[in-house]
Amino acid sequence: MAGAELIGKEEIKEVMDVLETGILMRYGFDKERKGIYKVREFEEAFAKYCGTDYALGVTSGSTALQIALTAMDIGPGDEVLVPAFTFLATYEAVMEVGAIPIMVDIDDTLNLDPNEIEKKKTPYTKAVIPVHMCGSAANIDKIVEVARRNKLLVLEDNAQGCGASFQGKKLGSFGDMGTFSFDYVKTVTTGEGGMVITNNKEFYLRSEWYHDHGHDHNPKVSRALEGRTLLGFNFRMNELQGALGLAQLRKLDYLIGEQKKNKKFIMDVLANVPDVKFRVKPDPEGDSATFLAFNMPSEDQAQKFQNLLAAEGVDTVCYKRNLWHYVPNWEHFLAKSTANSKQYPFSNPAYKGKAEYKRENIPQAEDILGRTLVMGISVKMSQEKLDSIRKGIEQAAKNM
Ligand SMILES: *Cc1c(COP(=O)(O)O)cnc(C)c1O
Repeated sequence: MAGAELIGKEEIKEVMDVLETGILMRYGFDKERKGIYKVREFEEAFAKYCGTDYALGVTSGSTALQIALTAMDIGPGDEVLVPAFTFLATYEAVMEVGAIPIMVDIDDTLNLDPNEIEKKKTPYTKAVIPVHMCGSAANIDKIVEVARRNKLLVLEDNAQGCGASFQGKKLGSFGDMGTFSFDYVKTVTTGEGGMVITNNKEFYLRSEWYHDHGHDHNPKVSRALEGRTLLGFNFRMNELQGALGLAQLRKLDYLIGEQKKNKKFIMDVLANVPDVKFRVKPDPEGDSATFLAFNMPSEDQAQKFQNLLAAEGVDTVCYKRNLWHYVPNWEHFLAKSTANSKQYPFSNPAYKGKAEYKRENIPQAEDILGRTLVMGISVKMSQEKLDSIRKGIEQAAKNM
């Protein structure tokens, strides 16, 4: 649960600053707001934390993806490479901009396999979206290198890896753009919310305009007189979210530190279970420790162990059977059940490619995800709780 566990007086104070002025909108009302610009402050702090030039607060991790894709001019007729293991939103965002998501296999990091990029690339491919699932990095240096060589843009969906890094550099800052989610179950939460980060000024400006009906946010004129060069929509973060984000961001490093301690305790116990191996992490130090993923030699064994653990009160998830995070399980997506009756963008005549979503095209995901069990790690886990997990694991291992 992460950030949600730590909501306290710091968040209350930041939110009260906003409520005392009554100005809930991030733009305008310069006189009335008495110098309080929480979203702006959150963006500046977040960009600094990630080591990027720009950050833009938005309404969700899903819309952050949509905004970034739009800023990079990805649209109808284009293909975007997306890993088979991700939350549905990554695919939905590609379709929202009218492009076609192309399913790509994963490697033993559980994230997009860089060796698959050139195999799945077609003349229509514009970008690749590595997703840092469950708080740990993809082979991001290799992915960026292969993408550059193939002139593909890189958008990191870092909704699940806020605060995680690879070789000292924050995830989300490797690609042309990166996105984050602050929904209620993410590492940093603003209830709902998201962030777009980039070092590319053009992509930033296009994001900023698009997310607010094209407004150029010229500080010299009032909002009503601002200029615009493109059409957009409304994905603005509000001041209450900005306030929450500021307080939460200050707790991020502490939160990750606590999760790492809890995760290590459980890993040490699991390390004694015969046949258990851990997910490969390109940089174990950079893990945000929101989840613990381990695997067994076969799917049968993993399933048996999962059931035994559940009987001892230790819950795990097998993502191969999860309904929301694995493409082959999305029956509505496979049936092209878009919210419009035209099955757009799949039916778009401008699209010349051929997208397929078959299990046999992702053999590594089928194998690895089937054998992998994932446990959520909390910030607050009492010694009593940790001991009960230890006992549960030891008992389940005895019964294997
Ligand atoms: C949560 C999540 C999103 C969507 O974020 P929301 O803020 O819930 O819209 C996108 N991608 C991944 C990988 C996620 O886990």
